[in-house]
Amino acid sequence: MADIVLDKVGKRFPDGTVAVSEVDLEIADGEFVILVGPSGCGKSTTLNMIAGLEDISSGELRIGGERVNDKAPRDRDIAMVFQSYALYPNMTVRENMAFPLKLAKLDKATIDRKVDEAAKVLELTALLDRRPANLSGGQRQRVAMGRAIVRQPKAFLMDEPLSNLDAKLRVQMRTVVSRLQKKLGTTTVYVTHDQTEAMTLGDRVVIMRGGAVQQVGPPQELYDHPANLFVAGFIGSPSMNFLPATAEQGRLRTALGELPIGDRMRRELEAGNAPRELIVGIRPEHFEDAELVDDETRRRGVEFAAPVDIVESMGSDKYVYFTVEGERATAAELEELAADSGAAEFTGAGSNLVTRLSAESTVAEGEQRRVWCNLEKIHLFDPANGRNLT
Ligand code: ATP
Repeated sequence: MADIVLDKVGKRFPDGTVAVSEVDLEIADGEFVILVGPSGCGKSTTLNMIAGLEDISSGELRIGGERVNDKAPRDRDIAMVFQSYALYPNMTVRENMAFPLKLAKLDKATIDRKVDEAAKVLELTALLDRRPANLSGGQRQRVAMGRAIVRQPKAFLMDEPLSNLDAKLRVQMRTVVSRLQKKLGTTTVYVTHDQTEAMTLGDRVVIMRGGAVQQVGPPQELYDHPANLFVAGFIGSPSMNFLPATAEQGRLRTALGELPIGDRMRRELEAGNAPRELIVGIRPEHFEDAELVDDETRRRGVEFAAPVDIVESMGSDKYVYFTVEGERATAAELEELAADSGAAEFTGAGSNLVTRLSAESTVAEGEQRRVWCNLEKIHLFDPANGRNLT
């Protein structure tokens, strides 16, 4: 087992594309770290540099304290699992899993023992004599993982291993991966573009955009304290609402109406440390049907009325889209930031505010409805650089 350290690691491809720039990351021995971000953000390139499948253009990579920039993949003692299972079709499950051990020239008795152990952990014992063609997608992916774990490498690197599976199987396999990693305690770096996988699997999540790390932290921390607009929009489903706001005399003027400014933010504004023009971020789950809010809770937030556009009943709760009136946001660059992160567009006139209300809400499409918003949970962002000021 080993820790993995990226020290200002960068990748520039021969055509000049900078896929990864100066990534600093320390992955502890036994840690499960997820690299997540939109397509093209550089997560696979980062993983491939750790694996040795891509050369490192700048910086240093250390595995177990040793610089490995120039070490061949096979000498790094790590195992990779890809989305395409890459199993040998003419070999049985046992032969597929035994393959890396045969290459390592272990004796037959040791190989059999290691394969049996790995098969047990992955519940593949009954399938050891089958060929890949006679396995389901989930079973094939378990064999691919089995082939990685038999070697007992220093680390596992996984690149979207579950993305070829259907939605239900993906959820099942998520728990398999999670249990496996906890049981083996092997350092694991896992690449995905799926924020649910990122939030549920890892000890820590690394959010990337444009080849750079945006934020690193445990999933809950990223949700509660996103460092910037991009992370705020990327984490959470449905995405956080972003509203342009102007700070004036202790209040924030927004398309939802006026919101009071907290004491700390007021001091920042008075000291000139915060801009007057701000972006307010509110997660859909921090709204509630005003009729369902008790008096004590009510004091922690504000109420506003808006026309209901669409109601989507999810069973456990309702996604309710309100039409927002007022000025339309014009900050084009920020719109781009939000769109890039998968967030809804900026909430201005004619666009929708997304809320997640209790299932008991009797809200109906077309009506004007009072909605409560939890002010303790709102975020304020600097439109100039997207930084979270709260
Ligand atoms: P995805 O989720 O789509 O796989 P990713 O986050 O894994 O995306 P990478 O595959 O690491 O992204 O690619 C990062 C950037 O590097 C992209 O802009 C991509 O077009 C570019 N890139 C990747 N491979 C090469 C290459 N061989 N030559 C030039 N540019 C490349």
